[in-house]
Amino acid sequence: MAEAQDHNRETRLPEAEIERQRGIMDQIAANGVGKYWINTYGCQMNVRDSQTLAGMLEGMGYEKAAEQRQADLILFNTCCVRENAERRVFGNVGHLQALKKERPNLIVGVCGCMMQQDGSAERLLSSAPFVSLVFGTHNLYRFPELLQGALKGERLVAIEGDPQGVIAEGLPAQREGNSRAFVNIMFGCNNFCSYCIVPFVRGRERSRAMGDILREIEGLSAQGIKEVTLLGQNVNSYAPEGGGSFPKLLKSLEGLVPRLRFMTSHPKDLSDELIEAMASSKTVCPQLHLPVQAGSNAILQAMNRGYTREKYLGLVEKLRDAMPEIGLSTDFIAGFPGETESDFAQTLDLCAKSRFDSAFTFIYSRRSGTKAAKMEGQIPSEIQHERLSRLIALQEGITAEKLRAMEGKEYELLIEEPSRRSKQDFMGRTGSGIAVNLHGEGLRPGDFARAKMVASGANTLRGELISE
Ligand code: SF4
Repeated sequence: MAEAQDHNRETRLPEAEIERQRGIMDQIAANGVGKYWINTYGCQMNVRDSQTLAGMLEGMGYEKAAEQRQADLILFNTCCVRENAERRVFGNVGHLQALKKERPNLIVGVCGCMMQQDGSAERLLSSAPFVSLVFGTHNLYRFPELLQGALKGERLVAIEGDPQGVIAEGLPAQREGNSRAFVNIMFGCNNFCSYCIVPFVRGRERSRAMGDILREIEGLSAQGIKEVTLLGQNVNSYAPEGGGSFPKLLKSLEGLVPRLRFMTSHPKDLSDELIEAMASSKTVCPQLHLPVQAGSNAILQAMNRGYTREKYLGLVEKLRDAMPEIGLSTDFIAGFPGETESDFAQTLDLCAKSRFDSAFTFIYSRRSGTKAAKMEGQIPSEIQHERLSRLIALQEGITAEKLRAMEGKEYELLIEEPSRRSKQDFMGRTGSGIAVNLHGEGLRPGDFARAKMVASGANTLRGELISE
């Protein structure tokens, strides 16, 4: 069941606590430190959290190691959305046992969503007793204090904390690249989709103040950042204390950076006001990731998604009416408990009708602690895989057709990093989010360039620069 954001609750962490952590960072820096390595799993929220960890580490005088083996501190920032995630992380942590024997001062830490799950930290520590630092998402801001303990040889586990979650403003961030940045606008989720573990590990929805977001983006713009992606589990329900809404936030950010994107949007909260704010903006890119998950009303209800297939298809129509060039992507889950062949046919039908530019397709993954894990009618793996392949084949055909239809047209691209093969081969992205490979002497990441699309592949286009 959805819960309203509690506006009376103080969600912002007191400044004095951030100051205390900064003081510890200075103490660590004064004592001489070494090199770090962070392994990040999962979604953009985790990528952003790893940037905060890296920012704190660099503030403590640590440098990023060239490779994991050379690091004095190795962190694993974990995700728990997929079923086999725990096996993979525990395996990768376990591989460090030999390195730890060789170098007893090596500190291995594990953090993130997985550690916030019941029993996960205990299981990790019994399988990898050499791990000296374990903390969950609610304790990220305490990293300097926890690291200080670990440096003294203590073994620290910090997975407690307010399950509702807090907002810690003013933590440093070390971002990769210098043209694009992620900015959190809210944390947590109140939706309790029946298959999802996020509300249990990331706490309830809490929104950053509009002024804090504005200041952060102004700072990024001054550093030359060209594209900001606003992050939240469900940005459409952004509701800061003291009033405000997501469309209002977008309007207040107009013109601060050349390109603004956001994710993720929940279909049940996608308002006409938001569609209008996107369509009328010169800053917000015509791109939307709108996870549908399934095309059958019975399954959408069992998932507790809060919308019907008709409502979803209506949204797709409204979005395309308002922004004919919009790039639409989605997520699908195949083989949810109780999904019949006719339910799945409805998913295929919705996929065909929506003509998404791309889709992330998953097999339903049973997560303990969720309602869906206890549901009857769990689908055998062979059926799940067979349905997934049919869905992938359908979407691949649509993606290829849509890319083919872009051939011969011209688009403005924001140039991203050069390819590994050549410093003059780049990937640029259209406003609608399509990746375009192109050759461009003298181009640099962060440049804008116009290009004509000359060929299309399975997921990307090939473009040629148009000289102005
Ligand atoms: S699937 Fe998304 S909206 Fe649903 S509970 Fe998880 S994070 Fe929230």
